[in-house]
Amino acid sequence: MNSIAENLARVQSNIDAAARKAGRKPSDVKLVGVTKTIDIERIRTLLSLGVNCLGENKPQELAEKYTALGAGLEWHLIGHLQTNKVKLIIDKAAMIHSVDSLRLAEEINRRAAAAGRVMDVLAEINIAAEPSKHGVEPGEAVNFVEKLIKMENLHVKGLMCIAPNVDEPEKNRFFFVKMREILIDIKNKYVHNIDTLDLSMGMTNDYEVAVEEGATMVRIGTGIFGSRA
Ligand SMILES: *Cc1c(COP(=O)(O)O)cnc(C)c1O
Repeated sequence: MNSIAENLARVQSNIDAAARKAGRKPSDVKLVGVTKTIDIERIRTLLSLGVNCLGENKPQELAEKYTALGAGLEWHLIGHLQTNKVKLIIDKAAMIHSVDSLRLAEEINRRAAAAGRVMDVLAEINIAAEPSKHGVEPGEAVNFVEKLIKMENLHVKGLMCIAPNVDEPEKNRFFFVKMREILIDIKNKYVHNIDTLDLSMGMTNDYEVAVEEGATMVRIGTGIFGSRA
């Protein structure tokens, strides 16, 4: 098995190459290191290599690792969030990628107001309309974002998706293009309310295709740490 340093270097050079291929700047793509199930020692190794933006899919785990590693990092909640768990991360997460219902958005907005902050959020789109996945249907995306924008303690930063689990990453290109098109629809309608718009898409299996199609954030776990136990 390769070291974390070797894996990270390979991922970063792949991101750079994919960005250049698409005529984009590599610096426009942010790497979110996905640390779910990864122990503190191995996370420290990643931090020492200069990655300080970390993604967790469980609120409890995010809160524990935030406490263990200190507040100087950027923690992103990337997995499904139940409304009763919002309180665990409201003062810890820098961004929530997985806002998948109005009810959840309202709870984040309410808790953020009480905590005296504005939370950066992404609207999760169930881009392939998979029954097993969370997120709003593509056809509902613009309408959903319109509602989120009205919430005072949310800062809507863009869209997120978890593309289908495919054997061949090219199969997801269609869905990444669709995400970009939805983002353009939203920009055309609300550009005055949304400044920089992010597209969080692409994981170990398909991040290069995602970057080629406009991802500004890729969420990578296995590609850095190896397969999870
Ligand atoms: C686990 C996870 C990832 C990272 O997946 P890898 O295939 O290990 O890169 C990305 N996004 C979400 C929402 C995840 O839960």
